[in-house]
Amino acid sequence: MSQQETETRSVLISQPQTQIQSRVALPIDQQVSDLLIIGAGPCGLFAAYYSGFREMRTIILDALPEAGGQLAVLYPEKYIFDVPGYPEILARDLVAQLVAQASRYGPRMILGERATDLVKNADGTFTIFTEKKGYTTKAVLITAGVGSFSPNRLNIENQEKFEGNGIYYFVKQKSFFKDKNLLIVGGGDSAVDWALNLKDVTKSIVLIHRRDQFRAHEQSVKECYASPQIRIKTFTELKAVYGDENGLKQALITENRTNKEETIPVDCILINIGFKANLGPIANWGLQMENRAIKVNGKMETNLPGVFAAGDIASQSDSVKLNLIATGFAQAALAVNVAKKYVDPKAQLFPGHSSEKSA
Ligand SMILES: Cc1cc2nc3c(=O)[nH]c(=O)nc-3n(C[C@H](O)[C@H](O)[C@H](O)COP(=O)(O)OP(=O)(O)OC[C@H]3O[C@@H](n4cnc5c(N)ncnc54)[C@H](O)[C@@H]3O)c2cc1C
Repeated sequence: MSQQETETRSVLISQPQTQIQSRVALPIDQQVSDLLIIGAGPCGLFAAYYSGFREMRTIILDALPEAGGQLAVLYPEKYIFDVPGYPEILARDLVAQLVAQASRYGPRMILGERATDLVKNADGTFTIFTEKKGYTTKAVLITAGVGSFSPNRLNIENQEKFEGNGIYYFVKQKSFFKDKNLLIVGGGDSAVDWALNLKDVTKSIVLIHRRDQFRAHEQSVKECYASPQIRIKTFTELKAVYGDENGLKQALITENRTNKEETIPVDCILINIGFKANLGPIANWGLQMENRAIKVNGKMETNLPGVFAAGDIASQSDSVKLNLIATGFAQAALAVNVAKKYVDPKAQLFPGHSSEKSA
């Protein structure tokens, strides 16, 4: 039996044996971190800074292809007014600042991988599995907010055939859409912002929305209507997609008041119709839960020694639950410093002042 197999078959915390055995085939990353943070929302990002400040080898993992949690997914274009030090800041800009701050000590940021299993190894370390790999760590901090987000999907003819090959839910690189006929579906900030952001790259953009009222920022909607490169069709829904082995070719759209159908040429479709959050496998990791949150004590410790939680996902005993960025930051600082002492019992709990550390 290989080293990797030994590790995977150690003490099980999270899943029935049958499921764990299915993980044996997954490769285990050879680096052992001191702290693995699950969730790169504001709380996890700040925790990653603190973990580096405490000289811990840090991994920060998120299911989404971008960092920022709820700020990036649900309200990137909204101003936030209650983050200390910023009288007002766009959610998107706060994420950029947090990523820059988190990056100071070079944590390993793994995006697009969802933590599915937590395994306690015989030597006291943990292995966190994603769908792709196992990552071994001395301590775990769960900052998974309201859970992992998955994009809402439509239920249309041929959808599955073209997902990832013509139908997309995220934009990873604008250049990918260069000279493409793009259809965007949605009426919120994401749909409208991507129409504006991609209009100078694509060959054509059609933006369809099933109502005539957009949920997006008013000014952005006006810009879309004013842009000659964007054709907006309201009361319109996507019904089917067609293509061949070379990719997508056409989309069938209908006007939902008249049922009038139209087939338009498309190379790509971007579906931006929101996300749903799901705590998913974390709820089965043997953690004590309370109202969909993980119970923690005043030190942000869960019932599993070495596993901590902070932010929206944490419910602290003898405290009120305020799901705010500011409270998440404070909890992240507490959790990381307690985790430091767990990983290295000789370390001080108090981190010292960052202002006294050379830049
Ligand atoms: C519309 C709206 C407006 C808001 N405005 C404000 C405001 O003005 N001020 C304020 O203080 N707060 C505001 N909030 C609340 C604030 O956004 C949250 O309190 C904050 O985002 C919580 O941060 P977090 O890091 O704990 O979790 P989240 O931001 O939820 O981030 C959690 C991350 O964990 C990831 N994740 C979850 N499960 C897994 C898994 N199994 N594997 C890998 N990754 C996983 C998710 O993908 C996500 O990126 C607002 C919330 C909303 C919805």
